[in-house]
Amino acid sequence: MTDLPGRRLLLVHAHPDDESINNGATMAKYAAEGAQVTLVTCTLGEEGEVIPPGLAHLAADRDDTLGAHRLGELAAAMKELGVTDHRILGGPGRYRDSGMMGAPQNDRPGCFWQADVDEAAAHLVEVIREVRPQVLVTYDDNGGYGHPDHIQAHRVAMRAAELAAEAAFRRDLGDPYDIAKIYWNCVPLSVVEDGFARLREAGREGEMFRGVASPSDVPGVVPDEDVTAEVDTTAHAGRKAAAMKAHATQIAVDGPFFALSNELGQPLFAREYYRLVRGRSGAPAGERETDLFAGVDA
Ligand SMILES: [Zn+2]
Repeated sequence: MTDLPGRRLLLVHAHPDDESINNGATMAKYAAEGAQVTLVTCTLGEEGEVIPPGLAHLAADRDDTLGAHRLGELAAAMKELGVTDHRILGGPGRYRDSGMMGAPQNDRPGCFWQADVDEAAAHLVEVIREVRPQVLVTYDDNGGYGHPDHIQAHRVAMRAAELAAEAAFRRDLGDPYDIAKIYWNCVPLSVVEDGFARLREAGREGEMFRGVASPSDVPGVVPDEDVTAEVDTTAHAGRKAAAMKAHATQIAVDGPFFALSNELGQPLFAREYYRLVRGRSGAPAGERETDLFAGVDA
């Protein structure tokens, strides 16, 4: 364990592209600073809608080869972010994308929503005990916006953090390890509102995008006072945009804006925000942390 870098960050996401949209700039920043950045993606996003017409045949209702294609997009995105350690929970294809909440795919055996939480968490315990991250980043208990795979990623990440620390749990998966700090992704409401105001002023509607999304389409929006950490990642916003572009089947990027398959424009946030839910804040009382590793022994 002596050869591990001093600072180690683990991120748990549902589908390829979620990491770049939520944490791309944070990942690029810490990787550039020499921290170990590990991404665990829980599914291959097989049920995603495909934006480029030329790739429409990859979709689940046609060739059903989108998962393999998105693995390639993820690898390209990680190259843009300078992240070398990215893994699929349980290995590629272990858990399938469950589709949007209420879709018939939610009930399909083998989908992530149907996974036993403890069993899925054991795969992550093995990663936690190997990488020994001081900081874990995942979604809130609604998965940011209610997608079953995002909710399940939250449950699995939180459960794995608990089990990894339990001395009696599966010693074959490594020595017990307690993660010092856990954060949930979030975006302060005022930042979301400003972003949409900029987007409307820019008048990209009808040009690049079919319309403008609404602030409620943004995952993880919280009242400003609930945000506990604000990482100045503006220097890495270009890398974040490049990583998002690498997920070309899922995201169309236009300068400081982007759209998903609904073609509704939304702001691309250059700064990234977090809510500390476990561990002690490294900032003075009432202030936001500016570093996820604040107060952590590195
Ligand atoms: Zn997702």
